[in-house]
Amino acid sequence: MLLISCPNCGPRDETEFHYGGQAHVAYPENPNDLNDREWAEYLFYRDNTKGSFAERWVHSTGCRQWFNMLRDTVTYDIQAIYPMGTPRPDVRIPAAAEAGTASTAADSTTTGNAAPSISATSIAPAASPAGTTAPKGATK
Ligand code: ZN
Repeated sequence: MLLISCPNCGPRDETEFHYGGQAHVAYPENPNDLNDREWAEYLFYRDNTKGSFAERWVHSTGCRQWFNMLRDTVTYDIQAIYPMGTPRPDVRIPAAAEAGTASTAADSTTTGNAAPSISATSIAPAASPAGTTAPKGATK
């Protein structure tokens, strides 16, 4: 079971939440200009990403607020939780670099602050009460 950190309520069991599908699916600017196929693609076609995926969640038995979550679809690791309407955070996971074929040397030349950006985005909901930002491994 996932332990999801609601931006308003803090860490709660996954059973309190409902999945809302892929995040950042923009409503068409001129929906009347779309043909049936384009409209169907907007309504029903979603990415099926293996790895880091931005998705919407609602805390349905808590504050009933929507938020976005960046989650790894393979490991279920929650990489970031951020408010609706904000862009997807650029989170680079060191484990992904180890598993993938991308060179870590190339990343180190372009982004020297990969680790701080992860912690900054995961703490992004500043409205969370104190004590909810415990380190991940601090449960036991
Ligand atoms: Zn909540």
